[in-house]
Amino acid sequence: GRESCLVGLIGSGVGPSLSPALHQREADRHGLRYLYRLIDIDPLGLGPDGVGELVRAAARLGFDGLNITHPCKQTVIGHLDGLSEDAALLGAVNTVVFGEDGRAIGHNTDWSGFARSFSRGLPDAPTGEIVLLGAGGAGAAVAHALLTVGADRLTLADTDQARAAGLAGTLATRFGAARVRTVAPGGLPAAVGGADGLVHATPTGMAAHPGLPLPAELLRAGLWVAEVVYRPLETPLLAAARAAGCRTLDGGGMAVFQAADAFRLFTGREPDATRMLTDLSDL
Ligand code: NAD
Repeated sequence: GRESCLVGLIGSGVGPSLSPALHQREADRHGLRYLYRLIDIDPLGLGPDGVGELVRAAARLGFDGLNITHPCKQTVIGHLDGLSEDAALLGAVNTVVFGEDGRAIGHNTDWSGFARSFSRGLPDAPTGEIVLLGAGGAGAAVAHALLTVGADRLTLADTDQARAAGLAGTLATRFGAARVRTVAPGGLPAAVGGADGLVHATPTGMAAHPGLPLPAELLRAGLWVAEVVYRPLETPLLAAARAAGCRTLDGGGMAVFQAADAFRLFTGREPDATRMLTDLSDL
């Protein structure tokens, strides 16, 4: 591994991100000099495509890597020299590693982060039939993770039905049409009624989007519920699910494991994700 590491996060409104603290605390425990800079496109007057100029600048300034977040996870791809296989399949990059040769390679640790959090937090959860609420960036990563770890069938629901249909089409090509379907909001009660588990990947439950993403009556013991929102860690959905007797998984694990996987790519060192989970609950 390296002795020192200079990395950053590019995106819009990244100021409140917990990534610097998560990475730097883990680096401290490795005795590694580590700088994690926040690079916000808004005050720079840049749009989603401005990420290209920033990636080139970071490479020239000797950065070891970058995390990439909303709204640049897709637009960054055109500015990279290569992609990992899963980043190429997903069409989204959240981690860029600069090689010694200056080449910028894109990776995606959102999906691997969810997969690791899921197997750790809900081991032996049945994955025959899973409803996924939200077909945006997080939903795409979760869907890739669930179908990769062997879920039999995913049902996608999004208030933007074209978005659900678009993601379903991509997943059907990748994993087979029999494993993916979409449901209109009106079909949600029947879909959840027949499901083993529900994953929530819309922003509902964040301060700016209060409330529940689906009627609480649809939650029942025997259904597991996994949340992707991690600010706050305890969302109204998780509280309602627990009250209904569901096994639950909060969004903190995905956030920590995507950071841990990025840390490994940046430094070549093995992070201790359990310690990082403890850090998250302290932050
Ligand atoms: P996004 O805007 O790309 O997608 C959200 C989708 O949810 C949209 O397609 C929207 O139409 C849909 N939606 C909104 N309300 C809905 C409702 N009530 N029912 C059905 N669909 C609804 O957003 P994103 O980037 O996917 O992020 C979603 C959430 O996931 C955010 O809260 C984000 O903070 C969180 N997130 C967490 C992690 C993590 O590591 N835990 C990683 C990425 C994103």
